[in-house]
Amino acid sequence: MLNLAGNRLTTILFHRFFFEEESAERSRDRLKRQCEWLRSHFSPLSLESATGAFQTDQLPPKPLLITIDDAKIELLRVADIFAAFDLPISIFVCVGWSAKESPDEDSSVARLVNQIEWYAGAPKTIDTNRGKIAVGASKLETRKAVDLILADTGGPQPDLEAILSILQNEQDGHDRRISCSWAELADLKASGASIGGHSVSHVNLAEASPLRMKFEIAETQRILAGKFDTCEVFAYPYGMSNTFSAATTKQLSQQGFRYAFLTHSDYPDSETDPLHLPRISMPDRAMSHPEFCVRAAGAGVLYRKLRQARVLKQKLGPDWLT
Ligand SMILES: [Zn+2]
Repeated sequence: MLNLAGNRLTTILFHRFFFEEESAERSRDRLKRQCEWLRSHFSPLSLESATGAFQTDQLPPKPLLITIDDAKIELLRVADIFAAFDLPISIFVCVGWSAKESPDEDSSVARLVNQIEWYAGAPKTIDTNRGKIAVGASKLETRKAVDLILADTGGPQPDLEAILSILQNEQDGHDRRISCSWAELADLKASGASIGGHSVSHVNLAEASPLRMKFEIAETQRILAGKFDTCEVFAYPYGMSNTFSAATTKQLSQQGFRYAFLTHSDYPDSETDPLHLPRISMPDRAMSHPEFCVRAAGAGVLYRKLRQARVLKQKLGPDWLT
């Protein structure tokens, strides 16, 4: 097998497992083949083992970490496959999405922020005791509405629930189950999965206001630590180079996150910032088995290195190798 990783950690990122163009049975069969291949070519690790060891020389040969972002409910239809191949999974939860599936008092602010961010009903202006908020109109208005809510979260919770129910009624019919509930995530954790944070409402944290960015990170930590005891690992929503910054990194650290994953294809080593960990992202489509193997073996890492070398060559001019 092509082995670009050497003995560095390969972290794979899945989002989805089922695709419209094929039957569920075929999708499950594909994943079984993928899991069988991963099992026979790597040493799979739990999130705790992988993050604890990548900065030292304590990783086993060909270490592998499997991460799954968003905690979509379809995960419940494939968790048995990962378990059958003894492959630990690490699930990064968008807490606003999961809180929506299992609402409780503790998550009112997170649910409201998420509801405003992803509101799909007709544009609407709502009078609140904080002032007017406009939803469904524009990205700018949505950001302003969320910031207005976050500027004063100390008010009575029934007010927040009242705004939530107006928004939910407005978009009746657009609401369907998307993510795992807290109980479903607790079951997954009980059967060996690790849980990490993936923000409250899946926004680009680098573009969010300072107030919103802090809330998204701090509330993720607060809710997940409350539900699952500890939460030290984060995965940036989207995860590309324009989705994090020095300010987001500092905030993660201040809120108790020790590790954070991005989505650039690479392998971490002892020099890698633990709050900027790379991952090999699998495309959300029905891949052939050879394509999966080539990607998991690091073709994207190689492509990225070659592209960086080409950019460098252009900068240095034609005589760069002489
Ligand atoms: Zn995501």
